[in-house]
Amino acid sequence: MALLVDVHCHLTAREFEGRVLQVVEEAVEAGVMLIITSGLGYRDALKALEISDGARVHPSIGVAPYDLEGYEDVLGLIERERSRIVAVGEVGLDYWRGGRESRALQQMVFEEFIDLAKALDLPIIVHSRSAGKYALEILSRKRAERVIMHAFDGNASHAARAAHRGYMFSIPPSIARSRQKQKLVEKLPLENILLESDAPVLAPSRDEVNRPKNVRISAEWISRIKGVSLDKVEEKTTQNALELFGLRV
Ligand SMILES: [Zn+2]
Repeated sequence: MALLVDVHCHLTAREFEGRVLQVVEEAVEAGVMLIITSGLGYRDALKALEISDGARVHPSIGVAPYDLEGYEDVLGLIERERSRIVAVGEVGLDYWRGGRESRALQQMVFEEFIDLAKALDLPIIVHSRSAGKYALEILSRKRAERVIMHAFDGNASHAARAAHRGYMFSIPPSIARSRQKQKLVEKLPLENILLESDAPVLAPSRDEVNRPKNVRISAEWISRIKGVSLDKVEEKTTQNALELFGLRV
């Protein structure tokens, strides 16, 4: 059994309050050796920094595109904590939820975070809901390089073109119930695939609280769809993640 990396989840979520250690332990037992937890907004980012141990759990810091209040403070926090965080994000565009934020504002803020990620030479984890094409356009125009499109819900051929430019796509356990995610995996080379849980959401079945240990379910689906052994999928996705984030186990 190869060691796995969960490149994106939210251990700071209410669902895990008071049992983060247990959830991490359970993931380790399932072979998940590294977890990247994303803090959304200033206060959540502080929590993500607090629960990260720099060994098994590493923080990334971003802001939800549907709730951009105080995003300037998040930019400042990323700069101050550059040495501890492993990525900027998640950040991006959400044209489905939208919230109070206009598309123009979402785009402007997204570009600021892309600029910062580039300036600090950090990978960027991108949320794009009903906005995949637009997010990819902005990233390409800004010449972003170390890119992870997380739970990409857009067109698989757009994704394949972005993979050509070296962009990575992280696949959540909801692939078990999403034809769109299955198609995405069909189109993408294994070289561009990572595993994520996005816990507590995007579980393999609806109404279930997702956990980082479920990245194994993503790996199983990828193995089946691509006709590649599970071992190979585990090894390759872990190697992809370690290289991209510059991490070691
Ligand atoms: Zn997320």
